[in-house]
Amino acid sequence: MPKTKKVITRFAPSPTGDLHIGGLRTALYNYLYAKKENGKFLIRIEDTDQTRLVKNAKTDILHTLNQLNIKTPEEIIHQSNRINIYLDAAENLIKNDKAYYCFCTAERLDKLRADQKAKKLPPRYDRLCRNLKRWEIDKRIEAKNRYIIRLKVPESGNISFKDTVRKQVEFDLSTIDDQVLIKSDGFPTYHLASVVDDHNQEVTHVIRGEEWLPSTAKHILLYQGFDWPIPKFVHLPLMLNPDGGKLSKRHAAVSVKDYIDQGYLPEALLNFLFLQGWNPGDNREVFSLADMEKIFDLEHINKSGAIFDLQKLDWFNGEYLRKKPLGKLITLCQAQFVQKLGKSPEPELLKKIVTIEQSRLKKVSDILDHKFYFELSGYDPKILVWKKSNTNETKQKLSVLIDYITDLKTTDFTIEKLETNIMKLIEDKKLGTGDTLWPMRVALTGLEKSPGPFEMAWVLGKDETLSRLKNAVGKI
Ligand code: GLU
Repeated sequence: MPKTKKVITRFAPSPTGDLHIGGLRTALYNYLYAKKENGKFLIRIEDTDQTRLVKNAKTDILHTLNQLNIKTPEEIIHQSNRINIYLDAAENLIKNDKAYYCFCTAERLDKLRADQKAKKLPPRYDRLCRNLKRWEIDKRIEAKNRYIIRLKVPESGNISFKDTVRKQVEFDLSTIDDQVLIKSDGFPTYHLASVVDDHNQEVTHVIRGEEWLPSTAKHILLYQGFDWPIPKFVHLPLMLNPDGGKLSKRHAAVSVKDYIDQGYLPEALLNFLFLQGWNPGDNREVFSLADMEKIFDLEHINKSGAIFDLQKLDWFNGEYLRKKPLGKLITLCQAQFVQKLGKSPEPELLKKIVTIEQSRLKKVSDILDHKFYFELSGYDPKILVWKKSNTNETKQKLSVLIDYITDLKTTDFTIEKLETNIMKLIEDKKLGTGDTLWPMRVALTGLEKSPGPFEMAWVLGKDETLSRLKNAVGKI
């Protein structure tokens, strides 16, 4: 029996900007499949479009992947270092009559495109140079005329290939342009370079977004032209806005960096993306990276587009935030304060705030939203009054609380002791729970909705608690 080939997958970003959330999903699936099959995960930098390169993009993309715990391999190839390999490959295609030199000038091509546009025709090269005689070509090359190399796409018929997700896919050859393979600057286009590298790097599974499906038709022509074996294609369903359109900045952040900056946790982002295009076949939802490495397969990749549901991501993030050990969460929150506000609260206070907020946070940056821990902003005194109470009673209950708290020892300032003692006070003096605790809480936060009164008093400490309670009495 022939030995089955070791699985090799690759993530092939172009360094043209930040890592896109869809790109992260592609990277994740490639990474997982290689892990699952005990194979190899490659990263290839597709930097042949010199006009679109963005400084530091490559380093940033790799850094982001590592932050997300997708370990990048040590050896990473850069296409810009391999120009001659692609040129040789293109020339081989010319020898086999699968590609040709095109000497058309940029002006001619611009005019052609403008004419086609005016006639509402799709932009296509008119194949003027497709049948040049050998001597004509030699003459022009000798005269140092600039040229590009184009793929000789058959004029009619269909091209079909198998995609693991989409099954049999077919394209009408008459709709495919004579794709440029080598540009006038000598650099290859994405299509040529990626096919040559996938072959040279022995990639067995090309896992990428569905937007590349039409390109695959051209890639198949290239594999056929080179007489190379065709890898397995796995096109992942598109990620969509809730309105069904392509995921765009208008709907949600699309850069992974932005999510990290807002304090989304790597484990939440990965878990969320894992299920944007794959399903476990049952209703399990929470998966660690280690779980994913074990269960990911190609059979359960979804066909239909994945709606990007930010609320779901928030839900995952909340789940993971609650599971974080307190110390780790404090460190993350501290980083948010320093990054966004330039300084962090003193450690004892921060620890208390994080303890209270852990169960509520959706993302780490939410920790910055609660100004009331640090200062009380002005509020309407009307909100101090519990709906079944009135101003006089409210004032009286707050005064009882002030007297009582003034006599408390600072060691009594724990959530539990405050709760036990103040509940007893309410009972003994028949103050009424809502009548007392509502104004206490509002006095401490200035808000109708907030953490509870005992938690707040604990965070604020005795002096600040008393000062805010007195401030409330003064306001009524
Ligand atoms: N460089 C392409 C990109 O930026 C890679 C497409 C592919 O995976 O073949 O998405």
